[in-house]
Amino acid sequence: MEDIPNGFTGFSRKRPGFESAGDAIRKSKNAQEYGYHDSIDFTRDQKRAAQAGWQVPAHKSPITGYSTNAWGSSKSSDPTDIKKYLRVPNVAEGEEAPVFDFEALEEIPEEERRWAWVEVDLGAIHSNVLAAKGLLAPGTLLMAVVKADAYGHGAVDVAKAALNAGADYLGVATIDEAIELRKADIWAPILILSEPPIASIPLLLSYQVMPSVDTTDFALKYAEAADSVGLRAPYHLKINTGMNRIGVRFDEVVEFMRRISFHRALDLVGTYTHFATADMSDTMEFRIQTAHFVEAIAQMREFGIDPGIIHAANSAAAIRFPEVHFDMIRFGISLYGYYPCPETFGKIDLIPAMSVHARITHVKNVPVGEGVSYGLYHRSAGFAKTCTVPIGYADGLRRGLSDNTEFILGGETYPQVGAICMDQSMFEVDLRLRGSGDRANPQIGDEVLIVGAEGNSVVTIDEMADKLGTIPYEICVGFGSSRLPKVYTT
Ligand SMILES: *Cc1c(COP(=O)(O)O)cnc(C)c1O
Repeated sequence: MEDIPNGFTGFSRKRPGFESAGDAIRKSKNAQEYGYHDSIDFTRDQKRAAQAGWQVPAHKSPITGYSTNAWGSSKSSDPTDIKKYLRVPNVAEGEEAPVFDFEALEEIPEEERRWAWVEVDLGAIHSNVLAAKGLLAPGTLLMAVVKADAYGHGAVDVAKAALNAGADYLGVATIDEAIELRKADIWAPILILSEPPIASIPLLLSYQVMPSVDTTDFALKYAEAADSVGLRAPYHLKINTGMNRIGVRFDEVVEFMRRISFHRALDLVGTYTHFATADMSDTMEFRIQTAHFVEAIAQMREFGIDPGIIHAANSAAAIRFPEVHFDMIRFGISLYGYYPCPETFGKIDLIPAMSVHARITHVKNVPVGEGVSYGLYHRSAGFAKTCTVPIGYADGLRRGLSDNTEFILGGETYPQVGAICMDQSMFEVDLRLRGSGDRANPQIGDEVLIVGAEGNSVVTIDEMADKLGTIPYEICVGFGSSRLPKVYTT
C-alpha cells in the first residue's frame, strides 16, 4: 500500500501501511487542496499543525499537543502515561523519538476506546445448562446451539462454558462457525444444522465437523470424498416433518436412505427434525409434526436402518414437552437465558447472560422547548439534564425503540429521548422528579445500562423485542454481532 499522510507527522513514513479512516477521508476530500501525493514532504504537515495553533517542536509528534481533557475521564487508562506505549527508537534505521509500540497500544481495552460494550455472564450460561439438564432423563444429551456467534454472545466462550457445564454437542449454522470453534481447540462433536455446499466437504472432513444431510447428491459426494482418503463420513439425517424449510420429507425417508446407504463410508450418527410451532399456545401442528417424526423413525427401523441419536426439541419444546426429548435436545435461546414463550414460565429457572453498557459522554441542560436529536421530535421540558451515550442503532440499539425504551443509571430508570442515532443516543434525567440527590446529577463517565438490571430497575431484551414486534433472538444477535466489544464475567 502507498504511504499516505495520516496527520501524525512522519509516522506514516516510519510505519508503511498505517492508515486510519480519517486518513482516507482527508485524502479524498483534500487531496487537491493539500497537494497530497505519494512521496510527500512531511515537514509540511508540521507547518500546518503549527499554523493551526499546535505546539509542535521540530521532529516531534503533534500528539504531545493533546490536552488531557480530550481523553475524557476514562476509568483506568491514564493518557499522560503515554510513555508506556513507546519503544526505543532504532537510530541506525533512522528512527526518531517518539516511536510508538503498536503492540502495547493494542492493550488499551476496547471498552475504554469507546464507552459502549456488551457484557456476557458465562456463569449464567453455566447455570442455564444445568437448569436444562435438570429437565432431562439421565443419559439424554444436550446440544448447545451456538450458531450466529452464540446468538451474539460469543461462540468460543459460550461453547466452552456450556461444555464445562455438561453440554455434549455443539450446533452451528455454517462451516466457518465450526472452524472457529476447532481453532479455539474445542473438540466436542459439532453438527451443522443444515446441509452445507458440496465445496465445503474437504473442510468438514479435515475439521471433523458433521453436516446435516438431505440430498443424495451431497451424501454421495461426501461419502466418496471421505472414502478416497480412508475416512468415515459421519452425518445427521434431517427430516422435514412439516416446517417445510429443509429436510427429507417424512414419508420419503426410507426411499432416500435406500438410494444412499449402499455407500460404505456413510455413517448415520443421528436423525432429527425441527418444530415450526413449539413456542405457540396451539399445539396441534406440533403434535402432527411429532407424529410424522415418530412414524419416519419407525419406518427406518422397520427397514433395518439405525437412526442413531434421535433429536427434535428446540428450547421451547425441550421445556414444554418432555415426550419429545428423545436422545438429545437442541438448546438455543434458553441457553442464553430467555423464555421462548409464556408456556415455559415457571418450568425452568433461566438467567439472561447478556447486558449492554455505556458511559455518559455529554451532559447538559437543554432549555425548555428546544428539540433533541434528528428531527428535533423530542422537545425539552426544561428542568432536565439531557445525557448522551455513545451507542446507537449500528450497535444493535434499534432505531424503532426511539422514545420507547429506558436506560438505567444508578439503579433508576430514565427515558431515552429523541431519535436513536447510528452511533449515539440521548436520555433525560428529570430534575423536578429526582430532587438534587446524586441520582439527579449525571456525570460524564457514569455507567449506564441499556439492557440489564440494577437496584429495582430492569430493562430486558424481551421487552425490547415486544416493543419492536420481534423476538429476543433478533435483539441479542443485533447487539452481539455489532461492533460493540464483549466483556466476559463469570
Ligand atoms: C436454531 C436452532 C435450534 C435452537 O432453537 P432455539 O429456539 O433457539 O432453542 C434448534 N434446532 C435447529 C435446527 C435450529 O436451527
